[in-house]
Order: sequence, then structure tokens, then C-alpha cells
Amino acid sequence: MSESSILSGKLLFELNTMTAMAGIYCRAHHQQTQGKELCEECRSLLEYAETRLDRCPYGQDKPTCNKCPVHCYKPHMKQKVREIMIYSGPRMLIPHPIMSIKHLLSERKPAPGKPPEGVSNRHIRKQKKA
Ligand SMILES: [Zn+2]
Repeated sequence: MSESSILSGKLLFELNTMTAMAGIYCRAHHQQTQGKELCEECRSLLEYAETRLDRCPYGQDKPTCNKCPVHCYKPHMKQKVREIMIYSGPRMLIPHPIMSIKHLLSERKPAPGKPPEGVSNRHIRKQKKA
């Protein structure tokens, strides 16, 4: 499981889900993967995802990305994540059943409206520090 020093709750769960999916994808597609380590490309994608999650304007009420009206990912990053989800989504059920079910349930939530002010993880972190 990935360790995030900045995320918690639902945002951390999303990052962990993405980390598990990237692991499945990376092992199948990137030959340079050794043991549990992800390749450079997949690691940097997860770092990017962590930053996006930190800055998500919905914070802990974040919808799943495919329902979200805010397109915060750069197009090529979005494309990579989509590939990983398509490949790994159906393969998650056996190694990570609870994670898969939680992920599927959250995907059924309706799309949200405009994000509220000041609820992003990043915003709350900065306020705690001040
Ligand atoms: Zn990889």
C-alpha cells in the first residue's frame, strides 16, 4: 500500500486504489518492473495523481474522476490513467475485493455541481499550518 504523507480519508483511499491498479498494469505492461516496485513512469503518474487529489476542489466529497465536471488532469496523464483503469479495473476484484466494491459504489454516485470553496485537502492543510 502506498504511503501518502499529505492525504487522508477518501482521498487517500483513492490514491491507494490507483496505486493498486497501477501495480497490476505495470506488472503486465512494463517489463522493467522488479518485485513490488513500479517503473519510473508509473511512479511519476502516481505522484502526479497525489498532487491532483491534494488540490481537488471537492476535498473529501470528491466524486470519482470519470463523473467529475472539473478536468484537472493534463490530457496525456488522463489518457494513461484511463488505460490503467480499463485494464486493471476488472482485475482488481480478486486481489482487492473490498477496494473494488467501494470504488464501484462511489462510481454510482451522481455527478456533483460546482465545487464549494475552501474544502480541498491542500487548502485545509495550509490552514492547519497557519
Ligand atoms: Zn509501469
